[in-house]
Amino acid sequence: MTAADSDPQVALVTGASRGIGAVIACRLAQAGIRVGVNFHSSEKAARQVVNDIIATGGEALLIEGDVSLEEPAAAVVKQAFDRWGRIDILVNNAGIHRDRLLVRMGSDDWDQVMDVNLKGAFLCTKYVMPHLIRQRAGRIVNISSVVGLSGNPGQANYAAAKAGLIGFTKSVAREVASRNITVNALAPGYITTGMVEDLPEETQKQILSRIPMGRFGAAEDVAQAVQFLCSEGAGYITGQVLTIDGGLIA
Ligand code: NAP
Repeated sequence: MTAADSDPQVALVTGASRGIGAVIACRLAQAGIRVGVNFHSSEKAARQVVNDIIATGGEALLIEGDVSLEEPAAAVVKQAFDRWGRIDILVNNAGIHRDRLLVRMGSDDWDQVMDVNLKGAFLCTKYVMPHLIRQRAGRIVNISSVVGLSGNPGQANYAAAKAGLIGFTKSVAREVASRNITVNALAPGYITTGMVEDLPEETQKQILSRIPMGRFGAAEDVAQAVQFLCSEGAGYITGQVLTIDGGLIA
């Protein structure tokens, strides 16, 4: 399909079947952006996200694929491009954690977390970039974490992947700035999704006591920031890391 400049923008959101990614997909769709809803294993939930977007007058495409593997990642990008003939926005949101103290951390725990959180973002960015360069415009938002800035016991693998994502963001931002493509990272603190809800109640209480705003963040807090970074008004912002954490690491 060939796209005209006047066509609505297209965003690909990885890991959009649930949690923060699902809310980002819905928010972008509400802004009139057509959205590729990527998932890996939660097909039913991802289909629901697509149906919700369509039910509220938006456009969305269900895209299965493990972004940590090269061929599936390339296929995910291709499906979004083939459907609408353009890609304007990539949100690298897919993420997992395998928390263990370092001495108990297996190579598998390390590799899986690196592969999804960091390599997945590399692969999707690599396959989206030629489209953005051709269009001489584009926005990439990488979902990192405050843990990538501060570190966290039990999360050496996750923190390293999220810190790596920040280095990746800043490097790619410099590579493509002259093409009118911005690349930024968001560093959420504790956001109420499966990842936080899985923590023991006592741990949740301890974390809350350290957050100056006294509450966990909502996925919508992150989605609003994504929408801003993808808006016209954010066109001169690139290579930045925006922390969304209620003051946790201020
Ligand atoms: P979540 O509820 O566990 O959702 C994770 C999403 O990633 C799911 O949609 C999942 O899809 C997808 N995913 C996992 N592996 C994938 C793969 N190989 N290929 C494609 N998709 C894959 O997590 P969340 O809390 O919304 O977190 C979203 C992002 O924000 C992550 O990058 C996370 O590290 C980051 N973050 C979260 C918090 C927080 O407090 N929640 C804080 C800071 C940063 P399937 O279910 O279909 O596999």
